Amino acid sequence: MKLLIWDIDGTLTYTPGLGRRAMERAFEEEFGVSGALEGVPTAGGLDVEIVGQVFRRYRLPESRLQSYFDRYLRILEELLASPHAGGPTPGVVEALERLSARKDVIQVLGTGNIEPGAWIKLRRYRLDRFFETGGFGEKPGPRWTVIRTAIDRAREHYGIGDLRPEDIYVIGDTPRDIEAGRHLGLRTVSVATGPFDAGELARHRPDHLLPNFASPWEHIFFP
Ligand SMILES: [Mg+2]
Repeated sequence: MKLLIWDIDGTLTYTPGLGRRAMERAFEEEFGVSGALEGVPTAGGLDVEIVGQVFRRYRLPESRLQSYFDRYLRILEELLASPHAGGPTPGVVEALERLSARKDVIQVLGTGNIEPGAWIKLRRYRLDRFFETGGFGEKPGPRWTVIRTAIDRAREHYGIGDLRPEDIYVIGDTPRDIEAGRHLGLRTVSVATGPFDAGELARHRPDHLLPNFASPWEHIFFP
């Protein structure tokens, strides 16, 4: 059995700047703070930490965190419903279809998105049909904690036993995905469909590097 853990933004989907815009608009509408994410890196980060940084910077009350995220989710849904540049990354739908047809593969999410945000993004492009569970960016901590949770939930949800680390793949578009996978001794697969180009990703030495899933990928999971 092989377990594939997929990142969302820049890996499964490509929605340039849209999530960030939704977060910023929510800060504007909820607190009257504009340009809230200026200088805050979001790629590969956890939603709760990105938003937490802004809360601390502007000394916003933690008690409003839930209402902030509720507003963010409404705006995210609205922005995704309007015309925008973006969609599944090249080749990824076909890859997911072929992988999900296999009996020896389980696919889960490993994303910095809060869970409802993750499903909103996936539903928009009908990618939610490939996933049932995963790890999400809801608790502060290093990104590998999200991957750890994804593995635990996969085992529980699908009733599988211990997997060998070399049969678990962390698929992502940022150096943070590589670091998270390596920290847990897992296989790392980088795709250059996000903000980092192949050269930059190569410097972080993933086990495998793909321009996108339109190029041959089978050898990675089924050597
Ligand atoms: Mg990403």
